[in-house]
Amino acid sequence: MYQLPKALPDELLLSRLIRFITISGISSSEFLQTCFGSNRISLHPFLTSGLSSIAKVCNEDTDLLLNEQTLTPLFCFFLPVHARNLQKMIVTNNGARAFRSSQLVSFESGQSLGLKSCPLCVEHDLLKYGISYWHVSHQIPGVDTCGYHGAGLSFLKLTQRQRLIKWLLPQPETDIRYSPLIEYKVANFSTQLLSLLASRQHLNQITEVYRHYLKENDYLTPNGRVRRKAVMQEFSKYIKNHSQTNPAIVPRTQQDYRYVSQLLEAGGSHHPYRHLLFGTWLLGEASQVFSNLPEADFSNMKNTPEIVNNISNKCLKFLKAGKSLAHTSRETGKSRCYLKRIALLNGISLNLKPKTLTQQVIDAICTLAYSGFHRREIARRCGVGIGSVEQIISSHSGLVERRKQCHFQSARRKNRLDILRYLASHPESIRNDIKQQCSSAFYWLYLNDRTWLEKQLPKACKPKGRY
Ligand SMILES: [Zn+2]
Repeated sequence: MYQLPKALPDELLLSRLIRFITISGISSSEFLQTCFGSNRISLHPFLTSGLSSIAKVCNEDTDLLLNEQTLTPLFCFFLPVHARNLQKMIVTNNGARAFRSSQLVSFESGQSLGLKSCPLCVEHDLLKYGISYWHVSHQIPGVDTCGYHGAGLSFLKLTQRQRLIKWLLPQPETDIRYSPLIEYKVANFSTQLLSLLASRQHLNQITEVYRHYLKENDYLTPNGRVRRKAVMQEFSKYIKNHSQTNPAIVPRTQQDYRYVSQLLEAGGSHHPYRHLLFGTWLLGEASQVFSNLPEADFSNMKNTPEIVNNISNKCLKFLKAGKSLAHTSRETGKSRCYLKRIALLNGISLNLKPKTLTQQVIDAICTLAYSGFHRREIARRCGVGIGSVEQIISSHSGLVERRKQCHFQSARRKNRLDILRYLASHPESIRNDIKQQCSSAFYWLYLNDRTWLEKQLPKACKPKGRY
């Protein structure tokens, strides 16, 4: 029986296995031999199969491994036809078939197999846990941005057949690039959706969810047909700054109507990123996927035109009277997205809140950012969103480097203080005690400030039994 290291938040199963063989001294061949009776098994990074064998040998729960430490729930959700088969193959030891069931090969996304990591998450994890690890949410195919930080993900191509390699963990990097806002929104939506899928059982069909929200936003005709032209027009506008041009996941042109039609076919198989991109635009929040949709929305369409007209007239009346979106939304129960659209269709200028991002606010953000304040604190003080703060910081040359320097010095101060405090309260301690009791600070200083650390540490003892 093996004891794997405890899963860290959003940690991939393969990452735990890598950490296990790194610290336990057990080789990957020995581990695979014990689990699967063969050391030639190749583990997939995010659709790791053979979960029941791993769970048995490591005393873990198969369902928990499947739902929280692989991407299986995401694939099952977007590929309901293949879901059962995929789950079965993931639980039993059938990696090749599981990969075929995921349909990834047929989507022609053209990306080779690898592991992705966010440099800011690595920095955060090293500081908080003393170790970096692979996150599940970073591995979603097509997503190249961190859903927490908005930074571009680094890609480590896996060239060997064997992926269970000692020390194969993300490395710290200093080159941080922020992705376009749209890609951050999709990544954020995907991360949210993944954590919701891990904890839910009964789900709405994704095609039903789309139809409900299309109808809500007036993108369905009274007969229930999709107004594809209007959808594509708005959707294309929304994703125009998206850097990917891969037609497997992003529409070719604004006239690529099949892109939408295909997503709405029940039982269709499409790259998960297509759904994530479209879902981000249509739903905004991943939690909307799980809201209780009224059944009448899908079954009975015949009496809807009058009702829709009544509601839209009511909304128009409020908007024409100059009421705010929030007020109209409260009174009519319709979403802001719907209201914006009907206002646009009827040529009404909206009574939106005045923009707060004036030159004065931008200057204040820059000053606070230069002093090294946290993004959240800057956002709070200036009354703007974190996204705006990040955008302003990344668009001012030299500011990111300056902040990195501040963070480095702050981390150094904190870690030096940890060590000094420990030494003051334990004057008799030997090097090994410090390494064990202040491991996070010790390793940080060992990597970044070794000369200082060596000066503070007690002299190394000679090993016992040498003479
Ligand atoms: Zn991150």
